[in-house]
Amino acid sequence: MHILVVEDEKKILSFVRKGLEEQGYIVDACENGDDGYLLAKTNSYDALVLDIMLPGRDGLSILRLLRENKNKVPVVIITARGGVSEKIEGLNLGADDYLVKPFYLEELIARLNSVWRRSSGQGLSILRVGDLSVNIMTREVTRGDCLIDLAPREFSLLEYLMRSPGRVLTRTQIVEHVWNYHFDSDTNIVDVYIQRLRRKVDDQFDEKLIQTVRGVGYRLVAEKKRTPSS
Ligand code: CA
Repeated sequence: MHILVVEDEKKILSFVRKGLEEQGYIVDACENGDDGYLLAKTNSYDALVLDIMLPGRDGLSILRLLRENKNKVPVVIITARGGVSEKIEGLNLGADDYLVKPFYLEELIARLNSVWRRSSGQGLSILRVGDLSVNIMTREVTRGDCLIDLAPREFSLLEYLMRSPGRVLTRTQIVEHVWNYHFDSDTNIVDVYIQRLRRKVDDQFDEKLIQTVRGVGYRLVAEKKRTPSS
């Protein structure tokens, strides 16, 4: 999940960013309301976390503008203790949920998952390819009857592959999406993680799901279409 966090308190921002990244989320962080609005407008995030009191445009005005422009990205607003009227205004403007400072990271993650689940529809929370299934919400991965334990970054990589089975993803695409690196980075990290993923997802199974496309990148096998039996 790609999340934008707009918050001007540096301590909270770095706490949230670090915490979400440790869970395998891709996080863009921003301390100013004007930049925040621009980022939200030009990128397609899975969810936004918006503080209300911000330098430049405030959180409620960012929310109002996005909704006026039919942008339906799920939004969780963060309010200061006692900001009841802001909270109500935020919900009226189309915020999906809110958190009151101070909050626990686990609370934020739960809210993000639930607003995202509501916006994307329950059915999409489980991705399946062959006998491999990934639950985006509970982060449970199974193949056949085996429960597979993945580290957060391995999970993000598998989730990315699972979202477009059959499609070849280049190392650059993968590194940009899963690691959020936008520079000419060393893409060997992709090979290292693919290897780890294969050990867990493919090695003990006959059918290999993760394929190497030589010179290009990787893909997950496409679902086999069953031929009609008649
Ligand atoms: Ca603030």
